[in-house]
Amino acid sequence: MLDADFFRRWMTATAAAVDREAERLTALDSPIGDADHGSNLQRGFTAVVATLEKESPETPGAVLVLAGRQLISTVGGASGPLYGTLLRRTGKALGEAEEVTEEQLTSALRTGVDAVMALGGAAPGDKTMIDALTPAVDALGDSFAAARAAAEQGAEATTPLQARKGRASYLGERSIGHQDPGATSSALLIAALTEAAGA
Ligand code: ADP
Ligand code: MG
Ligand code: MG
Repeated sequence: MLDADFFRRWMTATAAAVDREAERLTALDSPIGDADHGSNLQRGFTAVVATLEKESPETPGAVLVLAGRQLISTVGGASGPLYGTLLRRTGKALGEAEEVTEEQLTSALRTGVDAVMALGGAAPGDKTMIDALTPAVDALGDSFAAARAAAEQGAEATTPLQARKGRASYLGERSIGHQDPGATSSALLIAALTEAAGA
């Protein structure tokens, strides 16, 4: 079973990964964006960790709803409302239980990813975070490690795609040949699940 501490560790591990990889995320956002993805997420997840420490939410759902709300209010870029919606809607789907199963997390994350698609209008293959998140949720039924591998593969598979959503889409065919920054950060988010599980 996964308790509130598991979800806190998930957010802390994501924040650490974003810190570690911030320069790379910003570098990926340079040729096909505005070179701020690393700093956007660093600001957002630093604020998430701080607010989780301050408010100590007591259920898995409350941890994710608070984290999502914090991302929406601190990240100006497209990724703030999108990641914020992902976490908030996943948290809402978990309800008020003190512990949840991996199956419940998988199903809740699917709800969260669907909400991101509804908000941003992106489908798989549009070269966005959805290209890492969708295969990750599909693999999560097997294990956190399988989800991590699927997210990393999904992020790498964005390189040959032409962007159809977000800033990168303004470049048309010139977006081809670059890995999507948001799909790359989504792979970090999913990889942090294995760390939270201690795997
Ligand atoms: P901004 O583009 O506003 O500067 P960021 O650089 O923080 O925001 O985030 C860019 C990432 O957000 C992209 O790499 C992409 O993965 C994701 N993204 C942008 N628009 C969408 C959308 N409509 N749906 C899903 N993801 C999107
Ligand atoms: Mg950007
Ligand atoms: Mg920006």
